[in-house]
Amino acid sequence: MDFSYRNGALCAEQVPLEEIARRFGTPCFVYSRAGIERQYRAYTQAFEGRKALVAYSVKANSNLAVLALMARLGAGFDIVSGGELARVLAAGGDPRKVLFSGIGKSEIEIEQALRAGIMCLNVESEAELERVDGVAKRIGKRAPIALRINPDIDAKTHPYISTGLRQSKFGVPIADAERLYLEAARRPHLEPIGIGCHIGSLLADPAPWIAAAERVVELADRIERGGVTLTHIDVGGGIGIRYRDEVERPVGDFIAGALRALGARRHTLIVDPGRSIVGNAGVLVTRVEYVKPGDTKNFLVVDVAMNDLLRPALYGAWHEVRPIRERQPGAPEMVYDIVGPVCESADVLARDRALAARPGDLLALMSAGAYGMSMSSNYNTRARAAEVLADGAKAHLVRRRESIEELYTGEIVPPW
Ligand SMILES: *Cc1c(COP(=O)(O)O)cnc(C)c1O
Repeated sequence: MDFSYRNGALCAEQVPLEEIARRFGTPCFVYSRAGIERQYRAYTQAFEGRKALVAYSVKANSNLAVLALMARLGAGFDIVSGGELARVLAAGGDPRKVLFSGIGKSEIEIEQALRAGIMCLNVESEAELERVDGVAKRIGKRAPIALRINPDIDAKTHPYISTGLRQSKFGVPIADAERLYLEAARRPHLEPIGIGCHIGSLLADPAPWIAAAERVVELADRIERGGVTLTHIDVGGGIGIRYRDEVERPVGDFIAGALRALGARRHTLIVDPGRSIVGNAGVLVTRVEYVKPGDTKNFLVVDVAMNDLLRPALYGAWHEVRPIRERQPGAPEMVYDIVGPVCESADVLARDRALAARPGDLLALMSAGAYGMSMSSNYNTRARAAEVLADGAKAHLVRRRESIEELYTGEIVPPW
């Protein structure tokens, strides 16, 4: 598999992580090309023979090398900002396969997207519909749009990543959809071409996801009976992965359900997965700085912190921790909380883990390929980690570690 022990050394594909740490230092994100490609192909195989597009959700991992890999595989891209659009274009992505989601698109972002010739803007409110129409008119373009519908379905996931309920900030209520499509169809600078939804992330169970697909397909039928022709149906992303002991349902189970909902309709089915493509194709390598025993807790202080991997602090997320040198049988273990150097009590990466660790040892935080680097920050003026892509026996640096000077180059002290 993508990360496994070979002769006692944890490897990314065929490259020992300790060799990567030696060459590129720590903290360091390491991704597996084969892992990313296999996960992407799970989608395309499930779609075999159907009109479909896998639009990779850029926010999960937006490194240019990852985007370039996706572009070479023929993927589309689901973006949520002008910044992500720039990344996709810089990585050689095809703008005609780009969907622009998000509730707060600025005028400039809309203009950039229209000028780039993207496939579709996913509109999330009536006010945004007005804004897109206005920008399109001003620059003499016709804006391809889809409405993101809020299907009012409980994705049964963490409240921070549940997005499809009525009280959520995302999407347009189903009740308003038909009226808005008719309105859009009357405007010469808007071209309604699709419909979409997204109910949340880290979904373990296909049932709510498929229910959302059914609801959107039904709504598409009503809209089309009203005289508006749509070419695609976008069921969103959100398929879960195994971080700990979750049962990972095959991607094919989800896709089969959506294809069933679509039946014999001629629409292109679009999905926009992020985590399920890159999540388990990445790890974060860290070094133990100190072992700090205590009365009630023992701590391993490592060189990774919440600024590098926010998920444990933000969601209480669980990441498996593996030693990079396989534990020798009989080596004494202790139970540790693994904590970073950042000055926040929330800076805990993992709790109550049994490890035989000494200062200087390397550890891997597993399942760090999605929402790792892309959620990182410079809090505590910490330079962000390096990123490396393993490819067979080779390891490519795909982002060099930030320098400290870079962190304050944009800052200006007034001429007092
Ligand atoms: C975040 C997001 C996704 C990706 O979700 P994952 O859980 O990473 O698969 C897909 N579509 C939209 C609109 C999103 O906002």
